[in-house]
Amino acid sequence: MPFNIEEILDILEQEVRSYQVPVVDLIAVQTNDPYKVLVATILSARTRDEVTATAAARLFAQAPTLEALALLDEETLQRLIFPVGFYKNKSRYLAALPGILAQDFSCQIPSEIDQLITLPGVGRKTANLVRAQGFGKSAICVDTHVHRIMNIWGYVESVTPLQTEMMLRNKLAEKYWIRVNSLLVAFGQQTCRPVSPHCDSCVVSQFCPRIGVTPRKIKPSASSQPTGIKRMISWNVNGLRAIVGKGFLDIVKDLAPDILALQEIKAMPEQLPDAVRELAGYNSYFHSASKKGYAGVAVYSRIAADKVYYGIGDHRFDEEGRVLTLEFSDFYLVNCYFPNARHDLSRLGLKDDFNRALHLFLEDLARHKSVVVCGDFNVAHTEKDLARPAANVMNAGFTAEERQWMDSYVKTGWIDTFRHYNQEAGHYSWWSYRLGARARNIGWRIDYFFVDTASKSRMVDAHIMNEIHGSDHCPVVLDFK
Ligand code: SF4
Repeated sequence: MPFNIEEILDILEQEVRSYQVPVVDLIAVQTNDPYKVLVATILSARTRDEVTATAAARLFAQAPTLEALALLDEETLQRLIFPVGFYKNKSRYLAALPGILAQDFSCQIPSEIDQLITLPGVGRKTANLVRAQGFGKSAICVDTHVHRIMNIWGYVESVTPLQTEMMLRNKLAEKYWIRVNSLLVAFGQQTCRPVSPHCDSCVVSQFCPRIGVTPRKIKPSASSQPTGIKRMISWNVNGLRAIVGKGFLDIVKDLAPDILALQEIKAMPEQLPDAVRELAGYNSYFHSASKKGYAGVAVYSRIAADKVYYGIGDHRFDEEGRVLTLEFSDFYLVNCYFPNARHDLSRLGLKDDFNRALHLFLEDLARHKSVVVCGDFNVAHTEKDLARPAANVMNAGFTAEERQWMDSYVKTGWIDTFRHYNQEAGHYSWWSYRLGARARNIGWRIDYFFVDTASKSRMVDAHIMNEIHGSDHCPVVLDFK
């Protein structure tokens, strides 16, 4: 097939109508405001669109204009835009922006590339995007997707985005200049992905020479796979080495889970006995904290994971070994050990940051396939989830802030699997070691299995094994098909 760029871009114009609109385009269309386009573009560098959108919304609520931005200090900006990538640098750029614009451009956003690139945090790509989206003026923004896809098509042969931009300026009709970036960003995020592009479902596959491409391999459909039910168990063991001395291996043998997700293992793999590090019949995965004897998570799975993800991309949590994700052919298992807000609530802010970052991480995964998230959430959601709610309203694990995050989680469609099957009070997964709390069932339900809303029909059962001892937590169970 001859390669006709105009025909291809026209096909993609139709195709991306059903795609998610890139966040900067959305802000441009919604606001028609060069200031907001500039700020959103700065925020969007090396950041997922979902994260940029929520950070921009928080920032614009406080700083809808350049004048309002000038009133915010760097620390406030950091808080507002976290967790966008390089948020500290970006806060510094945004703090400096009003002064530089006042000094050099009479408090106006300039529209020329040479002027825009003098602003802090603005490179050529950002400048082109602001000129195109913020002012509707002729410019070719060359995002990584544009550079990559144009080379895959053989339309340009270039090494750097700047070379691609210059080549496109010479050969691409000007009517496509503003639009080409939005088209190829949307197309590159959803179909022609950087890793394993979806050539099998691509609307321009018949024209594409696929230069340097390894297309994705299609996995068998769910209906052609065994339909067995998987038993998953999540358990905060409060020290894996300690619980080994309390019959852990025999308990696991009796319970015979398909997947066993552990939290608070408090050990590096090399500190574990061989029989625990390499549990017979299972594939073992560990994400330990860098601090010895602290936090950490592990997963044992009968089936080997296709991929393993350590952490969620934020060093504050990743170095504490908080999240371990296993990817299987038709679902993700995300094992989490949420930070504790502490008795004096000194880590409540950090926990809120973790909740927010994890929530985005999970939403992102759920766009691809089923997600099962389990672990010690360190929060009782409702008054039914602890024995003495009135006495604990100000205490870590039952503060309004922590419970509100659980509300937001449920409101966005995540299903608390235990509550799906059981609405009774009095079912707990953690008891203090003090004052015979477990014997008197004065406990909290802080260990959960959640699934994304689209996976509701895959749930079979969920329950709590409060008869299993060995830790101050007991195992919680999800049967999933
Ligand atoms: S056929 Fe594959 S490589 Fe070519 S544009 Fe489509 S998704 Fe990208």
